[in-house]
Amino acid sequence: MKLPSAAPVAFLALTLSVSVSGCGQSDDGGLDEKSLKGATIGIAMPTKSSERWIADGANVKKELEAKGYKTKLVFGEDDPDQQVAQIENLITQGVKALVIAAIDNKSLNNVTQQAADAGIPVIAYDRLILGTKNVDYYASFDNEKVGRLQGRYIVEKLGLEGGSEKGPFNIELFAGSNDDNNTRYFFRGAMTILQPYLEKGQLVVGSGQTELNRITTLRWDGATAQKRMEDILTSSYKHGKVDAVLSPYDGISIGIISALKSDAYGSKAKPWPVITGQDAELASVKSIISGQQTQTVYKDLRKLAKVTANMVDATLRNKKPRINDTKSYNNRVKVVPAYLLQPVSVDKSNYKKVLVGGGWYTEDELN
Ligand code: BGC
Repeated sequence: MKLPSAAPVAFLALTLSVSVSGCGQSDDGGLDEKSLKGATIGIAMPTKSSERWIADGANVKKELEAKGYKTKLVFGEDDPDQQVAQIENLITQGVKALVIAAIDNKSLNNVTQQAADAGIPVIAYDRLILGTKNVDYYASFDNEKVGRLQGRYIVEKLGLEGGSEKGPFNIELFAGSNDDNNTRYFFRGAMTILQPYLEKGQLVVGSGQTELNRITTLRWDGATAQKRMEDILTSSYKHGKVDAVLSPYDGISIGIISALKSDAYGSKAKPWPVITGQDAELASVKSIISGQQTQTVYKDLRKLAKVTANMVDATLRNKKPRINDTKSYNNRVKVVPAYLLQPVSVDKSNYKKVLVGGGWYTEDELN
């Protein structure tokens, strides 16, 4: 910027602190205070079909608004094309940053390029976006640990730990959507714990379906999981019973439980198997209390929203956000710097302490 040769010092100082380029940038390359105040942040969530994403949308919105931003929040109804169109729309509307929880991690390459061309930073929210350099940061949980918590819970509940020779127990394996990057992290985490027992024959997959691509559940759909469980019960459990089910998500667990119910599980002859889950959704916590589902993995989404809002704010100010992982999440083009929070295993024994004590649910909501 060209300054008048006789510019008074006060004018100079003011000008530099407000804007170097005169187009809304501060002297360190971020947005200046004025542009930051009016900035709108686009938030693209995958679906309203599960409670967690509704909470995520509301939490991220709240945290960003607390920092003085405006927000535009959209939900993609689990349709990748719709999500792309929504994000294009947010870019056209002039958002200054994007927070995206991808439906299909590979469908966002064009739209994230459009964002980059418009100078809009992208934060991948909970689910990593793959195959593009145009994702700045990733905010999520330790997703492999989610799987390890599920696997370890099964092993402990069946009494397999500590050199026990118990078994064989029948287990069936379910995984999440194959277009969600988290799916393979959850599955890998669970299998690091379960694999040794499968190898020793203390755990047996009655259906024989153990490969990830055989056991995924498109869009995490509970009805799809129910159908698969029904088929497995018919084809592989005419004799014998299922002792454990690895389920990656509460909505899938509900489908599995329906299938088991139709096959007379939950009776003396066929007690409920150990059934894992994730997200501590209300219906599933109730199911845990009533003894159908056995476990879930709780992830404090309030913390995730805070981390995300800080990432957005720091990025727009051209500052480095707080990150705690620079190696786990390679999106096939680069390792995306991440902040990973800690998941917690919840069952009947600790739900009060974790979920009620932690202010996620009230006692009333659970009764
Ligand atoms: C999330 C899980 C959730 C699943 C289904 C995953 O990407 O990390 O918390 O259960 O999607 O919505």
